[in-house]
Amino acid sequence: MKKEEYENNEGSDKKAADKITADNKTDVSLDVLETLLNIDAEKVKDPEGTVNAIRDEIARHNYYYYIKDNPIISDHQYDMLLRNLSMLEKKYPELITEDSPTQRIGAPLEGGFSTVEHGERMLSLQDAFDYRELKDFLDRVYRDLSAAENEVEFVCELKIDGSAVSLVYEDGRFSRGATRGDGILGEDITSNLKTIRAIPLRLFKRTGVKIPSRLEVRGEVYLAKDEFKRINTEREEEGLATFANPRNAAAGSLRQIDPKNTASRRLNIFIYGAVASGELDIASHYEMLNYLAEVGLRINPNIRKAAGLDEIKRYLESWEEKRKDLPYETDGVVIKVNDFTYQQKLGQTSRNPRWAIAYKFPPEEEVTCIVDIKVSVGRTGALTPVAVLRPVTVAGSTISHATLHNEDEIRRKDVKVGDWVVVHKAGDVIPEIVKVIKERRDGSQKEFRMPDKCPVCGSDVIKPEGEVALRCTSMACPAQQYERIVHFASKGAMDVEGLGPAIVEKLLDKKLIKDSADIYYLKYDDIFSLENFKEKSTKNLLGAIEKSKKKPLSRLLFAMGIRYVGSHTADVFTRVFADLDSLMHAGYEEIEEIKEIGPKIAESIISFFKQEQNLKVIEKLRKAGVNFSSELKKVLKKEAFAGKTFVLTGKLNDFSRDEAKEIIENFGGRVTSSVSRGTDAVLVGESTGSKLDDARRYNIRLISEEEFKKMIKD
Ligand code: NAD
Repeated sequence: MKKEEYENNEGSDKKAADKITADNKTDVSLDVLETLLNIDAEKVKDPEGTVNAIRDEIARHNYYYYIKDNPIISDHQYDMLLRNLSMLEKKYPELITEDSPTQRIGAPLEGGFSTVEHGERMLSLQDAFDYRELKDFLDRVYRDLSAAENEVEFVCELKIDGSAVSLVYEDGRFSRGATRGDGILGEDITSNLKTIRAIPLRLFKRTGVKIPSRLEVRGEVYLAKDEFKRINTEREEEGLATFANPRNAAAGSLRQIDPKNTASRRLNIFIYGAVASGELDIASHYEMLNYLAEVGLRINPNIRKAAGLDEIKRYLESWEEKRKDLPYETDGVVIKVNDFTYQQKLGQTSRNPRWAIAYKFPPEEEVTCIVDIKVSVGRTGALTPVAVLRPVTVAGSTISHATLHNEDEIRRKDVKVGDWVVVHKAGDVIPEIVKVIKERRDGSQKEFRMPDKCPVCGSDVIKPEGEVALRCTSMACPAQQYERIVHFASKGAMDVEGLGPAIVEKLLDKKLIKDSADIYYLKYDDIFSLENFKEKSTKNLLGAIEKSKKKPLSRLLFAMGIRYVGSHTADVFTRVFADLDSLMHAGYEEIEEIKEIGPKIAESIISFFKQEQNLKVIEKLRKAGVNFSSELKKVLKKEAFAGKTFVLTGKLNDFSRDEAKEIIENFGGRVTSSVSRGTDAVLVGESTGSKLDDARRYNIRLISEEEFKKMIKD
């Protein structure tokens, strides 16, 4: 088709695209899309209407994909639309038109670049989604060539997921580069392509290697995975729309009006073929690739020759997993007939060469809708928002949930209930929301806020400083029990020998315990009833539980699993507080003032002991006879200091303030900064101020430095 013919022939594609631009809305009717995706060619009542509806739908998505670089349905859904159209056209050949998407590729070109006519059409590829389709392709090739299986050699290449370009070299110099466009006409993006370092401006002249007067090569410009992430993060920070995938990002980067923008994207290229040149004596695709490498063009290193389905399958299987470790995206494998004479004999359709096929890997991305956002509470008490999805198949399995990580992430991605989103899943990883398709918003979407109470137990949630996750503060929250109890009984904590994770799980399953304190109320029969427990093992476990009641207070504090209270911090507390009750009743300032304790820990302690549920567990522990008093204090405790609260004021002669404080704390007392009714004594040095007045007002005992020294000695 000539250029003028083509321009007069702009069919439904252009009209549908214009309509969309005019409305400035996606105009996607879900019901229509859904119906078109699920049609059964055998049962369609209005073939002509359906064919036209699919064409309109495809035109719409071509526009978003090729012009906007921002698809609003998944590639797989697009491929299914095209496939359904093909099936209908096969059944009703009279409905085939020249402008049908089955006969053409790409989308109408948008202004901005001058157009160039390709020396030879740039085609798309026929797809195979499984081995059966691949076998059908091979059988057709053998049949059309009247050749036996062992007579036809194939070349297997990775299908690079980027954007197709054509590069023209005249007398070895890079003279023009273009996008694929609609296959006949492309956009002249020479200046942008010149910014890609892997594209040589001159071909490598070697002795004995011929450079033809004109060489037109084809390749895929792509963005490495890391670079794609970098660009999207940057765009997110700048408040710009992110790219759905590296392919659209590469295509968008190539079509920048200012080449400086293209240069900033660090694109790369793999050349995968050339238009046959009469000047070169090359008989096969594989030979051609070697030649292209010789003259300095970048060829993918993972190219292999193969004969027959089994060898091809081996190549496919070897890359199915390995490809995930490549620094760039691949969406399949292209299998090409190697011999140029065979290629010519097989020919091409208006859309695809008949000598090649693209075997597509199962898609790792899909588009679906967020039906709801639920909050789950993990074993550590972290609240995680989870998107409930309309079920879709991704990477071979149906997914109905995706993690949203935390509230910051929801704001960053601007996720709302009712949004259409791109979900990604690879292998066993938890599915993730890649991006929101804002173009598909229709006003019914709803903002989501994280709850201020734990959705499982109703306790307060806190957002610890420096953390992104909200946490439930309850020690009795059912969602956290398993982990909490395992921790409670573990070695560094209450050290209940024999009460490991498996037993905790069984006790919880049988509802014999609900929280850590319940272990002290277990009866002989409860434990004996567990699988594998005999008389001796039951007695041993009961003995270990009993023994743990006498553990030092620091162990108990650590065992409680208070956020930020590790074993060292627990130790620090037991050097200051004579018993658990004094810590429970201490105020924020009092705690924060303790050496080594910062605001984060103080806050966590306060909110922990504020929770009704935690207090209940603590009472159960007390009733069971678990030790609540500080061992250390029992050794060092001096009557005059233990359990008492002191305030220091004025300058002391023989001690610094810190020294005096340490002495008081070592003997079991506490030092606070301000005088209150709860203060037991004020140590008064020289030149004092308001604290002394307060002490007098509350009638609090005053101690001189001399008296203090005496108290220490006694
Ligand atoms: P394609 O990507 O399936 O295959 C053809 C292309 O593969 C070639 O043009 C070439 O650029 C590329 N390729 C990569 N490595 C190659 C190699 N080693 N040898 C030969 N070619 C290689 O087909 P297409 O026509 O480019 O585009 C169709 C794709 O775009 C489909 O995957 C379709 O789902 C997607 N699409 C999606 C939407 C949407 O709305 N989501 C819209 C339009 C198109």
